[in-house]
Amino acid sequence: MNIGILGGGQLGRMIALAGYPLGFRFRCFDPSPEAVAGHVMPLTVGSFQDLQALERFAEGLDLLTYEFENIPLWAAEFLASQVEMHPSPLALAMSQDRVEEKTFFQSMGIPTAPFAPIENREQFDLALETIGIPAVLKTCRLGYDGKGQFVIQTRNDVEAAWSKLQGVPLILESFVPFDREVSLLSVRSTTGETRFYPLVQNFHQDGILQRSLAPAPNLTPELQTLAEMFAARTLDALDYAGVLAIEFFQQGDKLIVNEMAPRVHNSGHWTIEGAATSQFENHVRAITGLPLGSTEVLGHVGMINLLGKVPDRATFLSTEHSALSTHLHIYGKNPLPGRKLGHITIISNSKQERDQAVNSYSDS
Ligand code: AMP
Repeated sequence: MNIGILGGGQLGRMIALAGYPLGFRFRCFDPSPEAVAGHVMPLTVGSFQDLQALERFAEGLDLLTYEFENIPLWAAEFLASQVEMHPSPLALAMSQDRVEEKTFFQSMGIPTAPFAPIENREQFDLALETIGIPAVLKTCRLGYDGKGQFVIQTRNDVEAAWSKLQGVPLILESFVPFDREVSLLSVRSTTGETRFYPLVQNFHQDGILQRSLAPAPNLTPELQTLAEMFAARTLDALDYAGVLAIEFFQQGDKLIVNEMAPRVHNSGHWTIEGAATSQFENHVRAITGLPLGSTEVLGHVGMINLLGKVPDRATFLSTEHSALSTHLHIYGKNPLPGRKLGHITIISNSKQERDQAVNSYSDS
């Protein structure tokens, strides 16, 4: 079976690496000739606006999936009319626009921060009154890793926020004073079979994921059940196939949705060695209708993103880690400040030892 991946970043690369042992073939499509998924599968370089290039890419494919959500909706819909696509373009549509996404969650009874769509200055001023300050002003579309957003802490920030972001559709969200950020990776097959990984705790730096701990420390069965209930509702409403990530703010025993990603997710990279079946393999199983694999966690796991620099391979691999199992992933990207160049996964039998190792790698 030939599977096409829209997008050629590290996520696509890891999907293919997990799918090859199952006997599938992969090709990817990306605007950049440097796309690192191209190191492990044929890469078609082209624009997502170029219908003919997309059509040529789709020729001979049995199945399509995507690894990033900023593909123009019309292009995804066009391709899905030619080749079976999972997740569907509907999931893509819901995740591309923050107002639609939050409205969708609210329609399913899933809590979000209070929000208001902003198209002009009048609506902005009105929303500041109803939503209140502190608040976060964000672009509705094309925001990722904390880009395209401004935290309004006091009245003094209002003008700076407006002049930075105005000109495109915006959303004003109430600032959520969360205890911590957690995410749930869930997977649903075309057969309807569904599985969930345990909630993980995420730590961000300047809006970029810096590290994840799995399972989230002090995770209660009640919180896990709540997250799974919200995810199951979302998966069923979208008749979803593939991995879905939902990011939450946790406040006490409550969960408030921040956003979803209809794809494999950075906060699930630990599953490659830290779970019985990785999110990448389960994504491939799900979209091809195969039985899903166990999502059991194999110890106390930590994942640290390598942002802007990677450790020397030989030095890293020569370090003795006693009871720890450590794994280095380098994506092969050109280094740029803050860029996700790879990640490290640490697995331990002891929570304390895992935490110590995660802290030492995060500081180095
Ligand atoms: P996002 O791009 O929406 O995922 O936002 C990036 C990060 O900004 C989140 O992971 C949070 O740390 C923070 N953030 C975003 N929206 C809010 C909010 N409404 N209240 C508090 N923090 C937020």
